[in-house]
Amino acid sequence: MSDHIFPGADAVDVLFLGTGASSGVPVIGCSCPVCLSSNKKNHRTRSSIIVHHSGKNLLIDTAPDLRYQSLKNGIVAIDGVIFTHPHADHVLGLDELRVFNYIQKREIPVYADAYTLSRVQMMFPYAFSEANRGGLSRPKLIPHEISGPIDILGMKVISFPVYHGPVMNHAVRINDLVYLTDCKGIPDESWEALYGVETLIVGAVKYEPHESHFGIHEALELVDRLKPRRAYITHLSHSIEHDELSKMLPPSVFAAYDGLRITTGA
Ligand SMILES: [Zn+2]
Ligand SMILES: [Zn+2]
Ligand SMILES: [Zn+2]
Repeated sequence: MSDHIFPGADAVDVLFLGTGASSGVPVIGCSCPVCLSSNKKNHRTRSSIIVHHSGKNLLIDTAPDLRYQSLKNGIVAIDGVIFTHPHADHVLGLDELRVFNYIQKREIPVYADAYTLSRVQMMFPYAFSEANRGGLSRPKLIPHEISGPIDILGMKVISFPVYHGPVMNHAVRINDLVYLTDCKGIPDESWEALYGVETLIVGAVKYEPHESHFGIHEALELVDRLKPRRAYITHLSHSIEHDELSKMLPPSVFAAYDGLRITTGA
């Protein structure tokens, strides 16, 4: 089934910039054991990944922690950005892209479904303005609507809707990788894009079900149905301790953590 959608899809490298739920971990003012933990794998910035292929860096979401994440991981180039949905924890680091514009001396293409793209442009109109091109002070972004399968930076990309409480999120398939955070359910028409996934990154905020996110057991049900070669759980809140979660996960399913790097297909 691995060639269900993309025959012979190339491997990609993935760097988890952030693996936290919307408040991050530690949560401001919280003194729970996970927030006070000295285990760095319990320190989670807001969720985002970089997908690296053929020398290009494709960023998925601009978390509020993008500046810190870039410094920590030595990221000095962003060649394109995909937005999954316009919630604050996935978008509010957009302004940090201006430094990458400055370093690279070029505009950065950004991709999303029509609704998300319109919301992002409403939130950051100056980043899409023809005025003030040049200099370090503003991002310079070129919007691209995703309305079907698309090639981005040499990668085969499908964006498909998933239920996220009262709103829709868009999961992303890149070659044989699927990045699916902020999900409460899969619409019938989206399963096709999931079949044959080799590396599944799936979000879950706590062990118990949440009104707009999978709980751990719902995420594992999805893993069980799709049977990817490997799966990683991300978008975790302070209710989940890294080592405890790792111990209860089945083989080939892992708790993601900030700074984790993986290669698909390996
Ligand atoms: Zn989120
Ligand atoms: Zn806490
Ligand atoms: Zn969300």
